[in-house]
This record gives sequence, C-alpha cells and structure tokens, in this order.
Amino acid sequence: MMQIIDGKATAKEIKEEIKASVDEMIKRGARAPHLAAVLVGHDGGSETYVAYKIKDCEEVGFKSTLVRFGEDVKEADLIQKIGELNNDPELDGFIVQLPLPGHISEQNIIEALDPSKDVDGFHPVNVGKMVIGLPSFISATPFGIIELLKRYNIETSGRSCVIVGRSNIVGRPLSILMSQKAINATVTVAHSRTRNLAEICAGADILVAALGSPEFISEDMVREGAVVIDVGTTRVPSSETKSGFRLKGDVKFDEVAQKCSYITPVPGGVGPMTRVALLSNTLMAARKNIRL
Ligand code: NAP
Repeated sequence: MMQIIDGKATAKEIKEEIKASVDEMIKRGARAPHLAAVLVGHDGGSETYVAYKIKDCEEVGFKSTLVRFGEDVKEADLIQKIGELNNDPELDGFIVQLPLPGHISEQNIIEALDPSKDVDGFHPVNVGKMVIGLPSFISATPFGIIELLKRYNIETSGRSCVIVGRSNIVGRPLSILMSQKAINATVTVAHSRTRNLAEICAGADILVAALGSPEFISEDMVREGAVVIDVGTTRVPSSETKSGFRLKGDVKFDEVAQKCSYITPVPGGVGPMTRVALLSNTLMAARKNIRL
C-alpha cells in the first residue's frame, strides 16, 4: 500500500514540540530563543521567504529580528553588521537570505558568520563537521528529508539511495548524511553528466529527485515499492490559482505514486520540513547559549 509522506503535518508536529520546549525554557526563567534574518534589497522571492521565517518564529515563541539593507550596500558594511550579530549575546542564530546582489561575494559573507550562529549550516566549518559526523548545523532541506525518513520509520540501513542533483544545499549534503553510520544507506549521486540515469534511478530503494526539472522522473525510472522523495519546486503558470502559478515537483506524481511505497507530494512534502529545520537549528543554538 502506497503511503503519502505528509510533510505539512509532520512540520506542524515538530513546531508544536519546539513551542513546548520554548514554553518550558521560559517557565524556568530563561529568555526566548532569538533568530535574526538579514535581507538585502527587495527581491520578491527573498521578501516572501524572510516573511515566512519571521512568522514561523512567532508561532513557536521565538524572538525574531529583521535586519534590512538596500540593494547597493557595500560588502564591507554587511560584514561589519555580521560581526555585530556574531557578538550579540542576546542573539542565538542568524541567516543572511540568499541570493545577494552581484557585487557581493556570497562566500565572503557566509565565511564571516560565526559557525556557532550559522543556523543555515552553510559555513565551511559546519559543512566540514557534518562530513566527518560531528554535531553541526545541518542545512535545512537535507535536515528536513532525514527527519521525514526517521519519523515515518523508513528503513534506510543497507538500502540503495539514488540522489539526482549534487547542489551544495540539497544533493551533496544529503548524500553525505545518507551514507553515515546512523543511516547506513548505499548512496549514488547522479547529475547532468550521469549516463543511464533511468536505469540507475530504477535501481533505487530510496530515490531523491532534486534537479529542479518539473515532472522529470517518470514511472519507468522507479522501482516497484521504492520510497520517492521529491525536492523539486518549480513555479509553473496556472490559471487555477489566485497567484497565477503553482509549484511542480520533479516527479510525475500520479504515475509514480501507483508504483512506490512512500512518496512526498509537492507542495506539502519537503517544503514545510525545510522551513521547520531552521527553527530546530535555532532551538539547538539557543540551548547552548541560554543557561537554564
Ligand atoms: P541546482 O543548484 O540547480 O542543482 C540541480 C542539480 O540537478 C545539479 O547538480 C544538476 O547537475 C542536476 N541536474 C539538472 N538537470 C539534470 C538532469 N536532466 N539530469 C540529471 N541531473 C540534473 O538546484 P537545487 O538548489 O539543488 O534545487 C533543486 C530543486 O529543489 C529546485 O526545484 C529547487 O527549487 C528545489 N528546492 C526545494 C526546496 C524545498 O524546500 N522543497 C529546497 C531547496 C531546493 P549539474 O551539477 O551537473 O549541473
């Protein structure tokens, strides 16, 4: 029997757990966890993502701060602000919303963050710790996917996992986590130069589609009984929604769902879990900073 992996419901459950932890911290006399978001310019997508992050903080009882800069801010001024945030004892974690304007080096900005406040998990120290299996902040999407597999009790040990996509925010870190001792999958990372992609995908017990190409994965690429995780979220025009677009995953949901054991829908699968991961990381940062 095929089961839908309900990311929306799972994210709601995790938010309730986080809220309960915050209530408990406050009852014991501590301050609330505090997350800041740095937003540069007025990119529509970034404005929306940051607004969601602030709303999520409010829902679980975190304090949040929005730090805004104009499109033309100098890299040095941004780095100076990051230094202030690094040193603010009342702040547990912060994120710099990407992408940044072209004149600013994203890598310089990421490396300016104190790794202990880098709740996006993008700093090379966090990435390096994750690779060697030390505690670290894990980037949001891989964190969310691992949490879904755990909460649905999906067997990973000894199973083959094929990940299509090798980006630094999704495919690559997920491939490392899936191969670690706690999870024990046998991992293949596929990308745009992979030959015989359909055949490789069809050999997967767990197939993760993270390529950003709507409905790329068809039924013939999926093994009977496989677990399918669809990371793709491409906006496509739609006359049926108020906004004029809708999100499409990388998987042909209707045909693939017939064949697999578990599948994440789009929307309502990996997306909500990505949002909640930032809250989990911030709670983890706060637990280290706030003495109870
Ligand atoms: P990305 O940086 O564009 O990386 C895409 C990867 O897929 C690359 O490694 C690329 O290979 C590979 N690829 C592209 N076309 C391919 C093909 N035809 N066959 C095999 N491999 C192919 O994308 P990303 O940032 O990882 O995001 C991937 C998708 O996930 C996007 O739709 C994005 O919107 C979505 N996303 C969703 C969430 C969420 O919360 N649900 C979070 C993050 C991202 P090369 O390396 O060879 O170019």
